Amino acid sequence: MIDRLPTDTRFGQESDYASSRELLSAAGYGDEPVIAMVACSDMPCAVDDVLGTRPGELVIVQNAGNRVPLESAVDDISTLSSLWFALQPTTVQYLVICGHTRCRCRDHQGSPAGPASSQHHCVPHSGIVATHEQAGDVTRAGRHVLQQLDAVRTHMFIRERLQRRSLRLHACVVDDRTGTLYSYEPTAGQFAPV
Ligand SMILES: [Zn+2]
Repeated sequence: MIDRLPTDTRFGQESDYASSRELLSAAGYGDEPVIAMVACSDMPCAVDDVLGTRPGELVIVQNAGNRVPLESAVDDISTLSSLWFALQPTTVQYLVICGHTRCRCRDHQGSPAGPASSQHHCVPHSGIVATHEQAGDVTRAGRHVLQQLDAVRTHMFIRERLQRRSLRLHACVVDDRTGTLYSYEPTAGQFAPV
């Protein structure tokens, strides 16, 4: 027997769905996403809000731990097929891997250590009092995100787009305590607040 949905759920309310459709139509979005994002199922915020995207701009691939399997270890067909689907529109120009600091999935599943990634740091924002603990949280989450970016580059369908310069990769981390978004800056080798 299937339980009824909770009475306070907003799912299925025609008025909400209709207003969303109207918003998509009015904004001219819905068929032309520009960003694909791999995010964690455990994130406490709405993934759409992280980048402040408008309806239709973002295609989300969400799993436990914002993980991307290596090409040599394709045991996660679901994530791979979703990622492949997300990158089919030629309008998608950015692939973002987004982690967060208080991730329960990442710690439970473990994360392979990478000598290069372990050297990355986060930069405290001048306008934000970042404790050592917070900085460490961002660094740990960022290290995991960069490892997923390494995995992204092992897939031919992504490498081809990178070689054609039709796709750019980005890494970011959300600090769950403050809501601050940190973006990876390759030239500095550091995560810095946006
Ligand atoms: Zn998580």
